[in-house]
Amino acid sequence: LFAGPCDFVMGAARLEQLPAMDRPEIALAGRSNVGKSSLVNALTGRKTLAKTSNTPGRTQQLNYFDLGGQAYLVDMPGYGYAQAPVDQVRKWTGLVKSYLRGRASLARVLLLIDGRHGLKTVDGDVLDLLDQSATSYQIVLTKLDQVKLGEREARMAETLDALKRRPAAYPEILVTSSREGLGLAETRATMARLISE
Ligand code: GDP
Repeated sequence: LFAGPCDFVMGAARLEQLPAMDRPEIALAGRSNVGKSSLVNALTGRKTLAKTSNTPGRTQQLNYFDLGGQAYLVDMPGYGYAQAPVDQVRKWTGLVKSYLRGRASLARVLLLIDGRHGLKTVDGDVLDLLDQSATSYQIVLTKLDQVKLGEREARMAETLDALKRRPAAYPEILVTSSREGLGLAETRATMARLISE
């Protein structure tokens, strides 16, 4: 999956622009600044890949990347930055809501959460949306290098606990640091497993 170039395929601002549902896809979501671009780059071993999605005008799009010609990695727009969280989530929900509801080829959403802070209110709104659309999702904690070793277990336990009564949440979380390469192999393995299912 990650052996090839992992090229940018296209950005879609409207549902009609999405590519055919001819292969599984895994989407990445998270608050702006959560470390999504860094993680995509670390996973794919490329330095410039996710820059595409930070290009102004592309930030409110679903950005498609090719995974070995077998699957798509979908970079979802970031949410919750610099504006009232509620407005952001509302804006985010238009395209995303219909995408989540109608995309049969979507295998799972990986929802990135800053490991230093854990789940926040604005993330809760997104979890509600994912649960309501019955989209399988899994939490990926980021920037774990900034969390003391002794606090990592507690952060994981607390995150898992918050997911208990959430029907669409996959009850296993991934812990990562793009900076230190932590959890990348596990994340790649999870993605490969999802795609072969
Ligand atoms: P995005 O907005 O979610 O795409 O976030 P970026 O990938 O652009 O990262 C936002 C900020 O967090 C940048 O300053 C990154 O250098 C920093 N960052 C990203 N990943 C890590 C990480 O694993 N560890 C640390 N310490 N910082 C990170």
